[in-house]
Amino acid sequence: MQVFETIGAFRAARTAYPTLGFVPTMGFLHEGHLGLVRQAKAENGAVAVSIFVNPKQFGPNEDYASYPRDPERDLALLKEAGADLVFLPTPDVLYRPGSGTRIDVGGVAEELEGQSRPGHFSGVATVVTKLFNIVQPQRAYFGQKDAQQCAVVRRFVADLDIPVEIVVCDIAREADGLARSSRNVRLTTENRQKAPALFQALQEAARLFRRGERDVDVLENAMRVVLIEAGLPDIDYATVVNADTFRREQPCSDNALALLAVRAGEVRLIDNMPL
Ligand code: AMP
Repeated sequence: MQVFETIGAFRAARTAYPTLGFVPTMGFLHEGHLGLVRQAKAENGAVAVSIFVNPKQFGPNEDYASYPRDPERDLALLKEAGADLVFLPTPDVLYRPGSGTRIDVGGVAEELEGQSRPGHFSGVATVVTKLFNIVQPQRAYFGQKDAQQCAVVRRFVADLDIPVEIVVCDIAREADGLARSSRNVRLTTENRQKAPALFQALQEAARLFRRGERDVDVLENAMRVVLIEAGLPDIDYATVVNADTFRREQPCSDNALALLAVRAGEVRLIDNMPL
């Protein structure tokens, strides 16, 4: 496994690989990330991983400074998972003085997370486009955990004719259902115990949907009840949308996706489930 901090060195090494899978991450890796790396390795023969906590996708009052980081441990895990190339730039490598170009995706990027976190998806689209240009992978792997991010990436890849295939991988969960996330380590013991309620709320919506419920108000209320009873009342959104547009439809379509964003103390948790 080779590790690079500069664009030039990475590009020089990249030429040795005819096909390459790519997994962009913000580090502090867990089984969710490693599943993507293993799948990318299996499907492409070689895999590149980037580790970069992208300042441009964090709002001024968000957790950029406190986002957990442990590059040494990440590199050991990536070696074990079979990564071939790792790109580990510092912010000044990717954002040179005077750089101001940003990608504005519109549409699907304007709903939900786009409302709660203004500028977030523009920051994501800008950095992922840069990483695609540097890494030039045949396929790139993203987690369904960040469902709206996957839709945003598919949108700008199509709109900008970027020659990469986007592969979306299932959500890796803890034994109690909590979606794995780098931020989970920042949960207090008490909130860690409450956190599986997100998965339970999604399961409740899925159960009602399977029974034929298509009233979005009913599905949303059912999720809220589960969260509030579990002691997680600070709900950013608990909703059901069309999985293609991320728009709320009443009644919901068969192509429905339940999504949650909930604050547990200092930590904002997100999760989702196709219904
Ligand atoms: P992050 O480091 O949080 O930016 O995540 C990097 C990639 O890993 C993104 O495509 C995420 O959607 C994906 N990912 C994060 N957590 C999970 C998870 N629990 N299951 C599957 N993929 C995940």
